[in-house]
Amino acid sequence: MSLHGTYDPDNIFAKIIRGEIPAVKVFEDDQVLAFMDVFPQSRGHMLVISKTSRARNLLEAEPKTLGRLIGATQKAAAAVAAALKPDGVVVTQFNGAPAGQTVFHLHFHVIPRYEGEALGRHGAAWRGHGRCRSPQDPGRDDRGRALGGPVADGAVGGDDQGSQLNGFGDVVHHPGRQA
Ligand code: 5GP
Repeated sequence: MSLHGTYDPDNIFAKIIRGEIPAVKVFEDDQVLAFMDVFPQSRGHMLVISKTSRARNLLEAEPKTLGRLIGATQKAAAAVAAALKPDGVVVTQFNGAPAGQTVFHLHFHVIPRYEGEALGRHGAAWRGHGRCRSPQDPGRDDRGRALGGPVADGAVGGDDQGSQLNGFGDVVHHPGRQA
């Protein structure tokens, strides 16, 4: 049912885009925004959304929007891989409530995975991590600082993708390099 419907301009992500509720932003440009999931399934769990599209899900997305979004998702994955050194990265995307979607504004999840650490439940605080309260706290140990520090220091926005990724600029332009 929820696969089809009308875009609600008051959904939680629309409010984050408008700055009506706070979010821990990782990078942003005029089209896309990446921010920390408030109920992370693992350390460094990020969400990537379009700032301009009213697509509720993948099926409704304009090809141009999808292109920007998947490009930003790749950057988020590269950034988190360089910053937090996970053993793997999962990218997920849900369409419709029966599929697990809870916020009806198209988004991709970027979820780092660590050997020996179970994945937290979708939409619930990960045990041992809890709510993501600040950029300095995407994780429960000092690996979190690798992600939090540069992000916390950088201003969101800028004139190219690198600066928009704040401390992750190098990672974006040179995915092979270590942060
Ligand atoms: P979905 O279930 O729609 O695939 O994903 C929605 C995601 O948004 C969930 O992982 C949930 O934890 C996250 N989320 C829900 N409300 C908020 C919020 O207010 N702020 C942030 N940053 N994430 C949220």
